[in-house]
Amino acid sequence: MRNQYIETSLNDAELQTFTALRQQIHAAPELGGETPNTAELVAAKLTQWGYQVHRGIGGHGLVGVLQRGEGTRSIGLRADMDALPMQEKNTFAHASQIANRMHACGHDGHTAILLAAAYRVASDVEFNGTLNLIFQPDEEGLCGAKAMIDDGLFQRFPCDAIFALHNMPGAPVGTAVVQAGPTMASSERVSLRITGQGGHGAMPEKAVDPLSAVASLINAIQTIKSRNLGPEEYAVISIGMLQAGSVYNIIPDEASMLISVRTDTPHTQQKINQRLEQIVRGHEQTFGVSIEMEITSLAPALINHETETQKLRESLAPIFSPGQLHSRGPKVMGTEDFAWMLEQVPGCYFMLGNGEGEFHGCSVHNPHYDFNDQLIRLGADCWVKLVKDFLV
Ligand SMILES: [Zn+2]
Ligand SMILES: [Zn+2]
Repeated sequence: MRNQYIETSLNDAELQTFTALRQQIHAAPELGGETPNTAELVAAKLTQWGYQVHRGIGGHGLVGVLQRGEGTRSIGLRADMDALPMQEKNTFAHASQIANRMHACGHDGHTAILLAAAYRVASDVEFNGTLNLIFQPDEEGLCGAKAMIDDGLFQRFPCDAIFALHNMPGAPVGTAVVQAGPTMASSERVSLRITGQGGHGAMPEKAVDPLSAVASLINAIQTIKSRNLGPEEYAVISIGMLQAGSVYNIIPDEASMLISVRTDTPHTQQKINQRLEQIVRGHEQTFGVSIEMEITSLAPALINHETETQKLRESLAPIFSPGQLHSRGPKVMGTEDFAWMLEQVPGCYFMLGNGEGEFHGCSVHNPHYDFNDQLIRLGADCWVKLVKDFLV
C-alpha cells in the first residue's frame, strides 16, 4: 500500500516496473569489483531521468548527480551492487541464471530501491541543493567503498552527509532500526608466522618446535576476550586457519595461523592489537621461536554519527507506524564497508526489516535467501523523504 504520508510513493505500476528491474538484476548477478553490466543498467536509467552520470570511479563505481535550486547543501545516498560467489538453491523464475553467483545479500534490492527513489525524485520532488547517488561495487570484498574514496569520490562529489540502508531478514516489513553509535563491526586479518628449527621427531631436544608455541598461542589468544576486555567491550576473535608440518615424525620448521578479529570501536580494536603483540613477543621468549605478525585492517567499525542519525530518524518517523522505528537493534558483528565512507563524511547506515518466512526470513548469505520486493516502495519512500527534508 502507498504510505498516506508520502504523496511521492511509487504507484502500483511503477512498483511493478521496479520489481521487474530488481528481479532482472537478481537473475544476472555480478561479483566483487566486476559489476560492469549492473553499472551500465544503473547509468542508463539515471541518464534517462536527467541525472548527470559519472562512471568509472574506483572501477565500476558510479555517481548520479541531480542539482536543483541555488542551495549549497548536498547529500549522498549509497547502494551496493555486488553479489556473492555461491550457488542459489531457489527455483523461482528470477533465480540466478549464472552458476555459483547469487544475490544472497539483497544488494540487488538496495540498487532497485535507490533507482526507484532516483526516479521519484527526478519526476516530481522539490528540493534545493545537490543529490549524489553513489552506486558501489565490491561491498562483500570490503574494497568497493575504499576504491571509490581513493579515486576522489568525496573531493569530486562533496557531501554534507551520507546515508545507506541494508535489509534485515527475520524482522517484519514495516520495521526499521536507525541507531546512533557503533552499529557494525570492524574486521581485521591477523597473520602469524612462527619459525622454529625443524628436526627429527625422535630428537626434539635438537629442534625448536613451532607447534608447542602454536598450541599455547591458541589458548593465550582466547584469553584476550575473556580476561582483558570488559563486559561492555564487544569483540570476536576466531582462529580460522592453522598450517604446519607434513608427516608424523618430522618437527616442522614453521607454522602459520590466520585470525579474524572483530570489534565495534577503534578503542577495543587497539586494545586487542596491543595484547596480541604482547602475547606474540612473550611466546618468542618462552618457546625460543621467532614470530612475524601482520595485521591487515579490512574495514573499520561502522559508527553512525549522532546528529545525522537523529535527522534521519526524525525524517523517517512519519513513514513508520508507532513503535516500528527502533533506535536500537540486535548486536551484529558482521562488517559493512560503508564504514570507510562514514570515516570521511558524517552519516547513518540503517536497516529495514526484510520480512519473515521461507525466502525473506532466512539469513543473508544463505542459498535460499531472497530480497523482499515489498521493500522497494518503503525504501524509496525513506530516501525521497530524506532528500526533501535534508535539501531545503
Ligand atoms: Zn553480504
Ligand atoms: Zn550486504
